[in-house]
Amino acid sequence: QGKFYQFMMRTRQPGGLVHWQLYVVMDDLADKYGSGTLRLTTRQTFQLHGVLKEDLKTVFSTVIKNMGSTLGACGDNNRNVLSPPAPYKNRPDYAYATQYAKDIADLLAPQSGAYYDVWLDGEKFVSVHKENPKVTEDRAFSKFGTNFEGSAEPIYGSQFLPRKFKIAITVPGDNSIDLLTNDIGLVVMCDDKGELQGFDVLVGGGMGRTHRNEDTFPRLADPLGYVDKDDVFHVVKAIVATQRDYGRRDDRKMARMKYLVASWGLDKFRSVVEQYFGKKFQAFKPLPPWKYLDYLGWGEQGDGNYYYGIHVQNGRVKGDVKKVLRTVIERYELPTMITANQNIVLTDIRPTWKADIAATLAAGGVVDVVELGDIERYSMACPALPLCGLAIGEAERGLPGVTTRLTTLMRAVGLPEMPIVVRMTGCPNGCARPYMAELGFVCDGPNTYQIWLGGDQGQTRLAQCFMDRMKLNDLETVMEPIFFFYSQQRKHDEGFGDFCARVGFDALRDYQNGYIKV
Ligand code: SF4
Repeated sequence: QGKFYQFMMRTRQPGGLVHWQLYVVMDDLADKYGSGTLRLTTRQTFQLHGVLKEDLKTVFSTVIKNMGSTLGACGDNNRNVLSPPAPYKNRPDYAYATQYAKDIADLLAPQSGAYYDVWLDGEKFVSVHKENPKVTEDRAFSKFGTNFEGSAEPIYGSQFLPRKFKIAITVPGDNSIDLLTNDIGLVVMCDDKGELQGFDVLVGGGMGRTHRNEDTFPRLADPLGYVDKDDVFHVVKAIVATQRDYGRRDDRKMARMKYLVASWGLDKFRSVVEQYFGKKFQAFKPLPPWKYLDYLGWGEQGDGNYYYGIHVQNGRVKGDVKKVLRTVIERYELPTMITANQNIVLTDIRPTWKADIAATLAAGGVVDVVELGDIERYSMACPALPLCGLAIGEAERGLPGVTTRLTTLMRAVGLPEMPIVVRMTGCPNGCARPYMAELGFVCDGPNTYQIWLGGDQGQTRLAQCFMDRMKLNDLETVMEPIFFFYSQQRKHDEGFGDFCARVGFDALRDYQNGYIKV
């Protein structure tokens, strides 16, 4: 008996947009060739776990032939481009964010035909994958330093990038996509009439780090400047080229662009990008405060139709929930949007369909947002064991028990039900962005976790490591004094993360040490 090699397949879904037919195909593939479940990811894509080597070609070609793609979803290139899962038909700014997410995904898609050679025996699927002419013209790189024109990869050259690369696009104030954790963050700037004017540009965000390697760290993106709308592709390419040519290739742990920005400083980074860009950046335009939006529950799209955002626990679509989701998506041919918090938004729901959709989903166990606990609503875990080869411990399977225990603990110390952003990962890579959480758990050994505290609800401040190697059995011992301190001394409406950041870790530890159990 030989070995059965199995793989994880990840799709490319700019802005998380999923045509209903692709959803149905993914649902089928999960049953026939995967683990029987679908995973929604923190970058608005699908992951299919447990695909056997002998089935890979069938699965990939089926996805491609049904208007899906996996091109660039892994590897040292631009990954899936994020934009808000906002299905508003009366908000041009959101429409621009979605459109530019698609355009930039096309701009930075690997160009070699190898992808189609491998999965479709060379047949390029032009009928469904029409090239975007605006993007094709802009891909050629001759104006910007190193010229790979004529090579298979006009932007990436022969070596691609030093490491994966992440881009997100949003509108002012909407931080549904954790903008500051990306290599490039773009903010759509419109005038009073909703006409697109340009983009604020941020650079240098990233989550991954390595335990016991202090040279590695999570980092928030910094404001770089503003560019007019006609320059946005050029500036994206100039930033990518800067990372391509100067990002570290000698050490993969130090190869993300955040380390280049951190070691050079923002001014030097900006001036090198400007050399590739051929222009100066304009001053970064002021923005309103960021708000974390999750698009859960029923909402109006602005065209007479509705959307319905569904919480999917840790992004794992399985069992009866999987069945009823597929049923309503197929019955009404509903376009869907995967969110950056591993949830799904059904869109284009006519008023007359609402009652049937609500009843069908509820019958399958879908929990409406009004019945969802606040901690559960704002919690998120990566797949970790047994599905991720880098995992040290549990996350997806561990977090539900932890959120239940946290909810019980909060009640015990007299805290009301309230939102706290809780995130857990099975290793320090940080796929579920635990370093932005108000309470983050990062596995650092068998059944032990680092505790990160002090992120904020708008996802604008990094958490800090409060302790290492907390045994999961000690969760109550560690957290009860902190929750009690919070219940006693928080300011009106002060979030848990804001409280931890305000009082500081010394005060939290002092309180822990002197705490007498209530
Ligand atoms: Fe795997 Fe680590 Fe990412 Fe979790 S955070 S999915 S364990 S690489």
